[in-house]
Amino acid sequence: MNSKKALAVFLSKLQDFNKPKVYLEQYCTPSEIAADFLWDAYMNGELNGTVLDLGAGTGILGLGALLLGAKKVIFVEKDSDVLIILKENLTILKNNFDNLGDYEIINDDLLMTDIEADVAISNPPFGTRNKHVDLAFLEYASIHAPVSYSFHKTSTLTFLRTRISQLGATIIQEKHYQFPLRQKLPQHKKKIEYIDVSLLKIST
Ligand code: SAH
Repeated sequence: MNSKKALAVFLSKLQDFNKPKVYLEQYCTPSEIAADFLWDAYMNGELNGTVLDLGAGTGILGLGALLLGAKKVIFVEKDSDVLIILKENLTILKNNFDNLGDYEIINDDLLMTDIEADVAISNPPFGTRNKHVDLAFLEYASIHAPVSYSFHKTSTLTFLRTRISQLGATIIQEKHYQFPLRQKLPQHKKKIEYIDVSLLKIST
């Protein structure tokens, strides 16, 4: 993959959730946003080793890391239905690229696992349905990887900053994005709405 744009274009061709489960807050990271932060991590030399994709969904983040040369990507996802799509996306990758790194898929609740990696990446559920689940992801990441990247609702940042410092972790970079909200009624043409999201890079 020789540019951020090429990465975004390839990621945009992957399959999205076909029947997203609302209670699991399944939402695929927009491909341009995934490419944007993965490219920066790659340029920093942070994607060379083992990458942990927490709540992997259809795999867009971990697959992006594989495309950028990760030695190994560990996908953790508790919904076995969505892993069918992740595996199809892996096949698309393998059909298009040689010399990809290793990978492992773990079908379990993240909080029941204990996996260490060089970097963790995650677009966790935002905690709209299951309060503070995003914080549980963030805590897991800070314990299991020295560097982690995760997306959070910008409106929760004040709360998260306090918890992150209580964990003894440090926010070393913050980037702001807007995620388009899924249209509930696609037949009604209305203005696209966005949600403010912040990417936190955390080191421990
Ligand atoms: N990382 C993907 C998916 C984000 S949606 C992307 O960026 O596109 C969040 C994902 O986390 C969903 O697929 C959901 O099923 C999964 N998830 C939610 N709670 C989880 C848990 N406790 N353990 C593992 N996966 C979980």
